[in-house]
Amino acid sequence: MEDPSRLFRAAADHAADYRRSLPDRPVGAPLDDAALVDAFAGPLPSAPSPPEQVLADLLAAAEPGLVASAGPRYFGFVVGGALPAATAADIVAAGWDQLATNAVTSPAAVAAEAAAGAWLKQLLGIPAWASVGFVTGCQAANTVGLAAARHRVLADAGWDVERRGLLGAPRIRVIAGDERHATIDRSLRLLGLGTDVVEPVPADPNGAIDLAGLREVLRAGSPGPTIVCLQSGNVNTGACDQLREACELVHRHGGWVHVDGAFGLWAGASPATRHLVDGLDLADSWACDGHKWLNIPYDSAFAFCAHPDVHAAAMSYTAAYLVGSGGVPVGAELTAESSRRARGFAVWAGLRELGSDGVAALVDRCCALARRFAESLTSAGFEVANEVVLNQVLVSFGDDARTDQVVAAVQADGTCWAGGTTWRGRRFMRISVSNATTTEEDVDRSVAAIVRVAA
Ligand SMILES: *Cc1c(COP(=O)(O)O)cnc(C)c1O
Repeated sequence: MEDPSRLFRAAADHAADYRRSLPDRPVGAPLDDAALVDAFAGPLPSAPSPPEQVLADLLAAAEPGLVASAGPRYFGFVVGGALPAATAADIVAAGWDQLATNAVTSPAAVAAEAAAGAWLKQLLGIPAWASVGFVTGCQAANTVGLAAARHRVLADAGWDVERRGLLGAPRIRVIAGDERHATIDRSLRLLGLGTDVVEPVPADPNGAIDLAGLREVLRAGSPGPTIVCLQSGNVNTGACDQLREACELVHRHGGWVHVDGAFGLWAGASPATRHLVDGLDLADSWACDGHKWLNIPYDSAFAFCAHPDVHAAAMSYTAAYLVGSGGVPVGAELTAESSRRARGFAVWAGLRELGSDGVAALVDRCCALARRFAESLTSAGFEVANEVVLNQVLVSFGDDARTDQVVAAVQADGTCWAGGTTWRGRRFMRISVSNATTTEEDVDRSVAAIVRVAA
């Protein structure tokens, strides 16, 4: 076998050069789609190619189509950057090529997930006894959490859903906020519950679930298997549901509480924002992303469950053998994958790099920068529509058409990137501050560009 040293070094050097270029790179530069497609297209060669040539061709083909979303002035969707130690860990994880299914296939991968999982629970305020599945994204984490919920509420009704499926099963009630994330609906589809099952609850003025509304919906239906989806971090406004009151209410009705906290759960990692997720320890399952606010490279997320036996019973494909064996479920027993990549190394490294103080500082800094955006754009005469409780800012530049025009023009300008969104029937620019490298100067430069473009 050839020595891969030069090849791997070239790849790592390129990654480092790219990272260094991020602060100065146009964000979302204009793109010739056809040329990009052509650069990758063509017939599959029949003959092998030297790996160095393949790498060089890949770098050349991809370059014009890369989005500087890991950079400090990308405010689209809720996209985080990638911490240096976490990135380095992912580079070696690719080199190690570990199969993170269990402690036989990779003891190191499982040990890293165990350590990182314990740190995550401590930081977020999730009970220490909870199980943690390392998954691809919050979509997957919602599916795992709701699969556990489905198992438990049906088991309580005397029905083994893993064996018997949903045909003929007792009816499950699913209650969720009007402003839930769309991935909740897809998880319900995948779990055979469908989206029509959702009994929606209205939102309060800033987009959190309305507690009186939740009480009413709970009361209106018959008792029985009930799952309630709550949210920490409305994807438009950042609003967080009042978890303590909501959890107590749902548990009085015998229901299961799942919290979708893709980015908002990180409020729990800072004393300044912890009140926004007060009572989160009362929930039954939680979904949270690593690749958003924690700045772990894609893909990385966590499915936590307060009932590890339920978690394993719902997800493990050897559940019958495991449950009751007394073993602690690990790796693939807590996720929907069998073979899986070792995501724990990057999470472990990112958390070690920041420390708990660093995580709190990251959350505080992003929130402060979001407020800076809101204050500057308000001073410039534009409307900020949400109460900026976390890292999300919704800005209007006039009517819907005008706002869409400004969003498109800001994207074309390339100083920064923010997306458009519809909230309560109106169009807004959505600014999400989720990158560990964003500075006040980046915000000021971005505001100046937005104001210039809007004029
Ligand atoms: C981003 C997000 C999701 C989906 O997460 P992915 O990591 O994209 O799978 C779910 N819920 C909320 C609230 C989100 O912000």
